[in-house]
Amino acid sequence: MGSAHGAFTYNAQSFWEMNARRGGRHTGDDINGIGGMNTDLGDPVYAVANGLVVYAGEPSPGWGKTILLAHRTHDGRILQSMYSHLDSIAVPLDGFVSRGQVIGKVGTADGRYLAHLHFELHEADGISLGAGYVNYRTNRLDPTGTIGQLRGSPTADLGLSVAQIVRQIERENLVIPIR
Ligand SMILES: [Zn+2]
Repeated sequence: MGSAHGAFTYNAQSFWEMNARRGGRHTGDDINGIGGMNTDLGDPVYAVANGLVVYAGEPSPGWGKTILLAHRTHDGRILQSMYSHLDSIAVPLDGFVSRGQVIGKVGTADGRYLAHLHFELHEADGISLGAGYVNYRTNRLDPTGTIGQLRGSPTADLGLSVAQIVRQIERENLVIPIR
């Protein structure tokens, strides 16, 4: 959020930080606009990578509107990125998204928090939203560190998303052969 490259944001509560009030460790990063408070309400949220929408809905009042995208990395792992407390969701379940595509807007989970994006990264091929604070080992990865490791992977390695292919076909007026 902030921009397609995450500029103009800060991490208010980092991954695996202990939160005594909530009684557990934080399972993601809390990304806020640099203006603080609710200045980032309604800001666009961008897909971190090409992916498939495997969940789009409101699993609980605490999570609010939430999107889960599945991605395949260049080394064949399946990672999922999770975006929570959204004000709105802009992608359909089962839709393909491209890296940098707007998938929703920053929200407050219906007034439960000051506006921010709760962002998680899971290593999983199943769908489990889990809890925001835990005291046990989970399949959650450090979002910032993991993305840092994967950043710069050749596009050819990651593969084009269906949305990119469709756009390329439209742009170049290509015809898909039908047999
Ligand atoms: Zn959070």
